[in-house]
Amino acid sequence: MFESLKKKLSSTVGKITDKLSKEEEEAKKREDQDKSEAAQKAGKTDTKKAPKSEIKQEEKSEKKKKKSDTKEPEQKDSLIEEPEPSEKEKKGLLSFVRHKTISEKDVDDILFELEMSLLEGDVALEVAEEIINSVKEDLVGRKIKRKNDVSEFTKEALKNAISKILEVDSQNIDELIQLKQKQGEPLKIMFVGINGTGKTTTIAKIATHFIEKGYKPVMAASDTFRAGAIEQLTHHADKIGVKIIKHKKGADPAAVAFDAVEHAKAQGKELVLVDTAGRMQTNVNLMDEMKKIQRIIKPDLILFVGDALTGNDAVEQARKFDDAVGVDGIILTKADADAKGGAALSIGHVINKPILFLGTGQSYSDIMEFKPEWMVEQVFGE
Ligand code: GDP
Ligand code: GDP
Repeated sequence: MFESLKKKLSSTVGKITDKLSKEEEEAKKREDQDKSEAAQKAGKTDTKKAPKSEIKQEEKSEKKKKKSDTKEPEQKDSLIEEPEPSEKEKKGLLSFVRHKTISEKDVDDILFELEMSLLEGDVALEVAEEIINSVKEDLVGRKIKRKNDVSEFTKEALKNAISKILEVDSQNIDELIQLKQKQGEPLKIMFVGINGTGKTTTIAKIATHFIEKGYKPVMAASDTFRAGAIEQLTHHADKIGVKIIKHKKGADPAAVAFDAVEHAKAQGKELVLVDTAGRMQTNVNLMDEMKKIQRIIKPDLILFVGDALTGNDAVEQARKFDDAVGVDGIILTKADADAKGGAALSIGHVINKPILFLGTGQSYSDIMEFKPEWMVEQVFGE
């Protein structure tokens, strides 16, 4: 999952690290050369040790400024007694000993490249821009003291940017079910989204998920526009052994949903899962139909189901459905086949609603609760 996004992020860390290390080496070479020339001009004999002592002095004054809480022994000022730096120090400390500060110029090109590649990976424009700006804000002005700092800072900055993007207030469905139970009511969830995204399969997965938690769901076949939709949902309901309330093709979808709610109340079922017609989000009649269901049964949650593989299209659909009926949460299907991760990264941020579940395969158990920390780990983990 999200392999290509992961690759892009780690390649950015690599590029920034390489660029700054190279610049640092060149700057150091030039500086050493200048110093040795200056020393020769001044007629000094010990040209080799002069620059090193200056370096050490700088290092020490920096340590004093930081109130020196390290346990390293104070070094004597004498040039001759100064110990040679260890190999580790040479590699780490000394290469960045002048405390280079990261400038905008250092990272601009590479971050622009990342932005382009995020856009190619179906990350929404506003999200790609926010990521780049956040990384820039975090990185520019940071002082590099060790070689490892660059890669650590860059990774940290990217992680922070991605975490911020994924941070959206979320709802806990279990808690909502329990809350409704206390009121003697079922939790009513209405599923919206266009056909072919995996909506009916997802409803069956959600039913399975909550059956495993000990709840009893009922389904409402409120996509009455297509006969196929009623058959499809019935097929799933039969397979997982869930009651389905259905009318004839062309019946009033709101009436079907209403009947399902009545059934749940009469039978003490905790969850009503309402399928809706999945025609294009631009279809005014469809949107009116959904608004009618909304008026009649007053769903507690409206969940948008989108196909992760459709990238920006899924984001645009979510935006339209949110404008029309108000979406409370998102389920992204086919995440198992999605290398880009663009929709997963963008969709929640764009409509400011949480992704609640990811579909991760074709069987009814292939669904997982989505947690932002999980996604961050997925794209930055080993
Ligand atoms: P609907 O028309 O939106 O109801 O779509 P369906 O539920 O019939 O799903 C369309 C196709 O997508 C079916 O072949 C499903 O098995 C498949 N599908 C649904 N969810 C997932 C998923 O999370 N991962 C994968 N790989 N396939 C899925
Ligand atoms: P198209 O000609 O196939 O693009 O379909 P239209 O969007 O013009 O709709 C034709 C008729 O079908 C309209 O009178 C709508 O009321 C009805 N219709 C379209 N979409 C839906 C839907 O999703 N559900 C229901 N119940 N009726 C729909």
